Amino acid sequence: MAEKGAYLTGTVYNRPTLFEILAQKSLASTLEPAFKKVLSFLVSFNPERYRHVLQWEDEGYLLFNILLQRYYLRKYSASFSETFYGLKRIVVVNSETSQSELKEKLSRKQKILSLISLALLPYLKTKLAQLILKYQFEEADGCVTQGRLQRLFRKCVIRGHLILFTLYKSLEIYSYILYISEESMYPSSLLRLLRITLTYSEPQSTQTIMDLLNKLKHNSFTFDDGWDMFQRTVTSCLELGAFFLQFLSWWNQENYMTDLMNLPSPPPPDVSKTALRHKGTCPLCHMPQRIHTVLMVSGFVFCYQCILSEVRENKRCPVTHYPATEDDLVRLYIDT
Ligand SMILES: [Zn+2]
Repeated sequence: MAEKGAYLTGTVYNRPTLFEILAQKSLASTLEPAFKKVLSFLVSFNPERYRHVLQWEDEGYLLFNILLQRYYLRKYSASFSETFYGLKRIVVVNSETSQSELKEKLSRKQKILSLISLALLPYLKTKLAQLILKYQFEEADGCVTQGRLQRLFRKCVIRGHLILFTLYKSLEIYSYILYISEESMYPSSLLRLLRITLTYSEPQSTQTIMDLLNKLKHNSFTFDDGWDMFQRTVTSCLELGAFFLQFLSWWNQENYMTDLMNLPSPPPPDVSKTALRHKGTCPLCHMPQRIHTVLMVSGFVFCYQCILSEVRENKRCPVTHYPATEDDLVRLYIDT
């Protein structure tokens, strides 16, 4: 009994609302596109030199996410977005009895598993989704020339992914229903697997700027204080950025329909000499375009086959050298 009592000491469980759970999830999902936007913005300063960086943007985000989540898990026992909403992770030792037993500290194993679920799983999910999209595109193109077994494998992967995705989403909705009806302590099926739940975190006692200035004045400012200040500056910047992200996505949703309609249409841009030179012909094969396809990042029109292999290989516009992917290709239906 004393053992069981020890778990309960100092662990207060206040059930966060589903709104907070969903809000932190939506914040977490905006981090990846934000990271990629910033990266492509930085690359756009010198696309010639750094465009290869964009090929590794998923891996770059994986590394960034691991470092970010590891820091927050160690310092606040929560992910970045959970900390932002004032939540933290606690361990459910036993939820079978009417009085649930909880433990404040996550074990090392639970921290590692949390890190895997926060950083590695989303990465694998993105990669799988990209693979499925590639398979679907190739099948739609009709340029799949493999044996029967390989085609069957591809079909199985596409179907398997769809079934798995539907199953996972249904399980999530089921978890939410159990959670709001107070039948379960776990806000998601992944947290149930880890035997972790979320609760409100207590406010952290941190040194104020005045404390640090006083330390500087009395020459007792140590390296640790400097490190602490650096960490707080970086995390405050990230949290401020996250706040703006949330704000911008809300603002866009609110104003998308109304403001966009009221905006006057801007004048068309001037036609450059390069564009005039390629008028009516594909800049790659210099013949009249076959299956007109525009590359959205630059506006140049190519033959579909010419630009597809170029973008796949070099990931850029062959005329302007702007970074580009297959997703930037749009088929034009022009009467010829
Ligand atoms: Zn061509």
